[in-house]
Amino acid sequence: MHRSCRWLLFLAAATRLWAQAPAPVDLIWSARYVVTMDAQRRVIENGAVAVSGDHIVDVGTRADIDRRYRAAQRLDRPDAILTPGLINTHTHAAMSLFRGIADDMNLQDWLQKFIFPAEAKNVDREFVRWGTRLAALEMALSGTTTYTDMYYFEDTVAEVTKQAGLRGMLGQSVIGFPAPDFKTPQASLAATEKFFQAFAHDPLVIPAIAPHAIYTVPDDVLKQTRALANRYQKPLVIHLSETKAENDEALAKRKKTPTAALEALGVLTGWTVAAHGVWLTDDDMAILKRRDTGLAHNPSSNMKLASGVAPVVKILGAGIAMGLGTDGVAGSNNDHNMMEEMDLAAKLQKVTTGNPRALPAQQAFEMATITGARALHMEKLIGSLEKDKRADMITVSLTAANAVPLYNVYSQLVYALKGADVRDVMVNGRPIVRDRKMLTLDVPIIMMKAAEYQERVKKSLGMK
Ligand SMILES: [Zn+2]
Repeated sequence: MHRSCRWLLFLAAATRLWAQAPAPVDLIWSARYVVTMDAQRRVIENGAVAVSGDHIVDVGTRADIDRRYRAAQRLDRPDAILTPGLINTHTHAAMSLFRGIADDMNLQDWLQKFIFPAEAKNVDREFVRWGTRLAALEMALSGTTTYTDMYYFEDTVAEVTKQAGLRGMLGQSVIGFPAPDFKTPQASLAATEKFFQAFAHDPLVIPAIAPHAIYTVPDDVLKQTRALANRYQKPLVIHLSETKAENDEALAKRKKTPTAALEALGVLTGWTVAAHGVWLTDDDMAILKRRDTGLAHNPSSNMKLASGVAPVVKILGAGIAMGLGTDGVAGSNNDHNMMEEMDLAAKLQKVTTGNPRALPAQQAFEMATITGARALHMEKLIGSLEKDKRADMITVSLTAANAVPLYNVYSQLVYALKGADVRDVMVNGRPIVRDRKMLTLDVPIIMMKAAEYQERVKKSLGMK
């Protein structure tokens, strides 16, 4: 054989060997079941996910993934379910320092008599920093990887979110009265513009503007919030049709539902996430569908404040993306536990429609993952375990008494497993919880600060 021919054969053989050699990746996580939430809704028994940098490289059986990739680090959980990270589409994280401050009253009394005065007396930048740290800890430990926030000092919320390693769509509040951070809507708008610029290309934070609601923000300011959001192509987050009182007031004052009024003002002409939608009419749903507005359903909050039951089956049936949220924990929940929201969302639809088939477990789990991602307009990045998406995922342990036996993974996730069963959490390719230990935050200091604030808040309100 000619020498160059032999050389070519050698090269071909070497290439074949090289092609079969496992490719290096940063991490492999494997589990008994991998629930992908991809378009086919594949559930892979003895599955694994390969991750490099911030993204998913491959998803498959553990045998296939181990043949194709060699990981610098690996985590094998043969007794757990691996799922996409949970997406909380509506909350007010820093309010966790007001947890349970005023329970068992209606929204208007709760807001006007307790929350607004308590905020006026206590909320400053440090309060927001520690409240958000407490919420981030609680959210991460119960499997939330992305959350949507509406509050004050949102640049500090963004700092804490990055420090915790969570992903956030974080809305700087704009409201029609002096707020804890800014005394006028104009000052809030100016600060929001700076916030948009500071976090324009952040890998974890999407800055947003958060006009509180149609009944707390003047019309001209609402228009300005939309214009600013659109100028920077950032989201606008808002409360919408939460209570019957809100709808009745809009109908009396404007002869329009809150949704129709926002539409008439042009507020829905862009990237929007609206929380609640309890009192939406068919016409409202048609508007939201046309505008591709995402919605956040908050079953705990709606039940606790007796706001009503959002027509979730109808909303999803109309093709509107509706995710799940915890809302704030000051009196409208009182925790940040998405496992609970899935369970309640499913059961609440069954009770109100009289149909046990309404909102089955898989659909409830979709709301907490891929449909929630669609509601945030982030479905290209998160919400499912697929190649090239961001590596946001959790393992949920199957070792507790409430976790066995297992016949259907969705049923287990929605109706049996709890937030405390979450064992590991990764966001953007970075493990932030390992074996139920928070890796990114100093837990004892957060707990100490929570106790300190409890005393300070009680004193400020003259509570014993
Ligand atoms: Zn809210």
